[in-house]
Amino acid sequence: MAEISALEFSEQLLALGYTVQGHTRLLPATMALIRERWGCQCLALFSAKGDQLFSTRCDAIQYCPDMVPESSEIKQTGQFFSIAISPDFFIICDQKPSPVFSSVWCRCFSDYLHQHQGKKAQIGPEQVSRMVMESIPTRVFWKNTDKFYAGANQAFLRDAGVTSEAELRSMTVNQLPWSENDCQAFSQLDDELLSGQSESVEYEASIQVNGKTQWIQGHKQLIRDHQGEISGILGTYHDITKRKKDEEKLKLLATAFESHEGIVIANSQGIILEMNAAFCEITGYRAEEIAGKTFQILHSGHQNQQFYKDMWQSIKERGRWEGEVWNKRKSGEIYPEWLTITAVNDEQGVATHYVGSFIDLSEIKAQQSKVRQAAIQDQLIAQVFQLTLQGSSIGHYLQRSLELILESQPWLMSVASVHLYQAQKTPQWQTALNLNLPGNSSIADKSEVAALLNRLLENRTPQTVISCRHCDSVPPHGHLLIPLQIEDQLIGAVILAIRAFDNHNPDDESLLLRLCNVLALGVSRRLTDDALIEAKEEAERANLAKSQFLSSMSHELRTPLNAILGFAQLMELEDLDETQLENTGEIIHAGRHLLELINEVLDLAKIEAGRLDLSIEPVPLNLVISECLSLTSPMAEKRQLTVSCDSEKLEDLWLRADRTRVKQIILNLLSNAVKYNNDGGSIRLSFSMPEYSLVRISVTDTGRGIPKEQHSDIFQPFHRLGAEATNIEGTGIGLVISQKLARSMNGDLNFSSEEGRGSCFWIDLPQHIPDHASEGKAEDDTL
Ligand code: ADP
Repeated sequence: MAEISALEFSEQLLALGYTVQGHTRLLPATMALIRERWGCQCLALFSAKGDQLFSTRCDAIQYCPDMVPESSEIKQTGQFFSIAISPDFFIICDQKPSPVFSSVWCRCFSDYLHQHQGKKAQIGPEQVSRMVMESIPTRVFWKNTDKFYAGANQAFLRDAGVTSEAELRSMTVNQLPWSENDCQAFSQLDDELLSGQSESVEYEASIQVNGKTQWIQGHKQLIRDHQGEISGILGTYHDITKRKKDEEKLKLLATAFESHEGIVIANSQGIILEMNAAFCEITGYRAEEIAGKTFQILHSGHQNQQFYKDMWQSIKERGRWEGEVWNKRKSGEIYPEWLTITAVNDEQGVATHYVGSFIDLSEIKAQQSKVRQAAIQDQLIAQVFQLTLQGSSIGHYLQRSLELILESQPWLMSVASVHLYQAQKTPQWQTALNLNLPGNSSIADKSEVAALLNRLLENRTPQTVISCRHCDSVPPHGHLLIPLQIEDQLIGAVILAIRAFDNHNPDDESLLLRLCNVLALGVSRRLTDDALIEAKEEAERANLAKSQFLSSMSHELRTPLNAILGFAQLMELEDLDETQLENTGEIIHAGRHLLELINEVLDLAKIEAGRLDLSIEPVPLNLVISECLSLTSPMAEKRQLTVSCDSEKLEDLWLRADRTRVKQIILNLLSNAVKYNNDGGSIRLSFSMPEYSLVRISVTDTGRGIPKEQHSDIFQPFHRLGAEATNIEGTGIGLVISQKLARSMNGDLNFSSEEGRGSCFWIDLPQHIPDHASEGKAEDDTL
């Protein structure tokens, strides 16, 4: 039964008690109330002596003296309950009354009986306050100064889970079912009061009642005796759980309302009542400017009447509409938003309010268009890059690229020119392209632009002419000059025409800069290609001249020299005296040396000119070696040199090389080993395979060796490393030629040497591995 009903009930009983005359009439009158509130059917009134004064439907009640209750107690006997009204009367009924009802009803009834039996009602202030205490929903309790409970109303006892005040009296707050924290907090409040710090305290807290959290708002105050001494604490509290829940709900709703979405509430006429901060931020209106206006204030004119008609029709039919709308901010700016309008209906289904929520889409749209823009820009750069990689001429390349650029940038006029700065040859600007300019005219002829072009040389950043008055045939315009640079080098400039006082986007200019960087690459590539072609042609021309010179030299030098040698040899056969014979011998000797020198110089020149004709073929190494040894052995014998050869290893070794040139190299190494050896020394020819299919031929001597500091000069033409000062004949280019020959046959030549101990020179040449079928034939050929 609701507690508020108890209050109501007591008021109604009191009213009945004072208006209805005679207990015989009062009882039936109160029965209706009691039946309704209390739920009992049988009710009888007895005097303390056991006389039944009145009963209703209580045939079932069989009175017995045991049924007489103690004062203010509810006594149960079988299925019946006896309730003492006063020392003189008690009632018996078939339902246990709620303590509130019984106490209120009994007191009302007792007062009435006393009044009508001629005794004046004895209602003291204590009874009244108890009555009030029990009739209100507020929980009341009081404690002594030791913080033990001294009393409480029934409402408090119920919360505390205690059945009687007597039970409560032995308890402090710590024995109550509140949580430990709450008990501590309540006890602290008591201490605060009892220490005299404050007379009363207000608090809010949550407690556990029957396993549920109950929010309470409480008040505690000191009880003072007549002398003003503190004698206890009076506490009251009431349940504010519902209020708390409502507050939380409101808080949640308020949070939802203050979201990033704009939210607006309008009445059924569309008049704006409420809006959140986001709405004001998006629309630019302050709350007071917009309240009382209709949604029309936001209309941008981008949607027609039909659009709004359809929208309201949908809200009417489905209670909701959502879609994209272009609205107008207070600043006049028109922006896209995603709008949802929901109708709020009353019980009859009639719309009382409309709630509109929307998201500003301008950021998203801007991002989308930026991404689209970037994709278009990348595509444009890719197209220009493609042109850059093609093999077209500079003029054609610039023309096509600029046409592409101008087509894609509507803020540019279709007039442009490109100028290249010829710093190396002639330090001046040269026009490489005039796009859509009549005749031979060039933008760069105009003094203003010409000055800016020169300024680009110092300041390599884009230059602007806001309004050009010089290009007569072009409508009002300005110019934008963008440098063409490769790394730090300025190679040219692109001059574009912009509409006069154009207010283009900085992004557009940075795109042009990127495009011009690609153009610079294309131009530079073409210039380099041209220079390379020119250099190659020049080299080829020089080579041809060298070959012609060499062939004529070969003829011009060798013919007279052979004639000299031939005549000298003829003279040798004449009858000459000793001196003449010696002189003729000198002529022949010097002539031969000169011929050898000429041959070697021509050989070297031929190799360097790339005119060496090699006939690469399988070469049987053992044959070449034996030929070389037999050619050098007279020289070696003359100096008493021992020549040894690792001949078993030679077996089956074939080279892939030019036979004559291999012989030339080995002879050069062997003759050096003889020339630069000590008399009586030795020479060893050995063979190895340092790598797969590579044959190494080593010539080791026990000669004077080569000092370390001269090692780097050994392959320099005409460097004889001091041998020129001796009587050892030589030209100083044998080793240079040998190394070049070895390399041109995919091999190499190198050496190691120690001064005073000897040297080892080796040639590496590719091995020929004969296949089975041809093996026999090759051997047959060579044997
Ligand atoms: P040259 O006609 O002078 O022998 P080379 O090109 O064959 O020309 O050799 C260059 C120089 O390298 C020689 O002048 C000599 O000083 C040195 N040289 C070459 N082979 C040997 C060697 N086996 N021992 C010592 N010195 C050598």
